[in-house]
Amino acid sequence: MVPYDLYRLLRCPTCGSRDLIVTDGGVACAACHAEYPRRNGYLDLMPRGVEFGYVSKYVSEEEELAHELDYRDLAPPLLAAGVRNRALRRLLDLRPTDIVLDSGCGNGRFAAWNANRVRLMVGVDPATLFADEAIKTVALVQGDARRLPFADGMFDKAFSIDVLEHFPRDVIDAYLSETARVLRPGGRFLVFSNTREPSRLQPLVEASRWLGRQFVRAGVYDFEREARRKSDHIKALATWEDVLEAMRHAGLRPVRVVFWNSVATSFVEHVLMKLGEAVVGRSRREAPHRAAAASTDDGAPIGEGTAREIRARQRMRARLQRRGPVYYALLAVTLFMELDLWLFGRARSGSYFIVVEKPEVRRLIED
Ligand SMILES: [Zn+2]
Repeated sequence: MVPYDLYRLLRCPTCGSRDLIVTDGGVACAACHAEYPRRNGYLDLMPRGVEFGYVSKYVSEEEELAHELDYRDLAPPLLAAGVRNRALRRLLDLRPTDIVLDSGCGNGRFAAWNANRVRLMVGVDPATLFADEAIKTVALVQGDARRLPFADGMFDKAFSIDVLEHFPRDVIDAYLSETARVLRPGGRFLVFSNTREPSRLQPLVEASRWLGRQFVRAGVYDFEREARRKSDHIKALATWEDVLEAMRHAGLRPVRVVFWNSVATSFVEHVLMKLGEAVVGRSRREAPHRAAAASTDDGAPIGEGTAREIRARQRMRARLQRRGPVYYALLAVTLFMELDLWLFGRARSGSYFIVVEKPEVRRLIED
């Protein structure tokens, strides 16, 4: 959606002017005359006439990925996404007066899940594969996080889920300093991402992976879709020191850290849920070779593993909307996964939540 409150936050992403005029079709800049059209449920605020060196795979292959990402319908926040979402609410302490930015919102699911808890939820992403529910509940902007179309200090809070690991270092620096710019002094920013650091609890994680591999070998399921999803991870912040240094560099002060050692989580993801998907996602009255002929919109074939997982997810979503026993079973599994945060949250590992703060401006009174 494009609510009126959104316009008050904006500045021109091309020239930085706040002198914007709301028109029938969108917004126009009175200073540089750039025009930013309103599209179906969002404002196009990409900087004009700027070439960025790095473009995310989600932008360059938007059409191609649209089918695989299966982005339109939202399930309730459960499993790994549920753990992230519960941590987001707890660590960022969202309030009804907050204006909040989800920078790199993807299909907008985290923004949509929390939109009713805050005064205004804004989602920005260069790709526009937004979920239907996000279009209904979130103020959506197509924009580039290196040049955010918002004036300084407009947001009380911001968050970034599964974003940093996709960017090279120079993009991370620009992303963090832009986020710091649009936060108000004292405003807080939650990041969930991962470094290359192994967990000290890795042997426990490996045990689940090993078990998962036995099922793959037996043909029960595969990890094709996961492999595709993780294929553009760069992890330029390779160590925890790199993370802290990048935050300092952007003028952001760490206030809270929780690591996610995926002990319970990897058992759930590599074994429990994949077994569930293999059962729920079986194609009905359809030979496997026919199901494998399913294809994306541009005709590229997608594998049976991907097709099966999407089918499983679609069937599950229909059931989950009814909040029946399946929903509560998955909520229980989500809470089981969240034990990883409570039990092992202080043990340094690759996956982390960090809350950073933009320092208040200190007035130095000298006698
Ligand atoms: Zn302008």
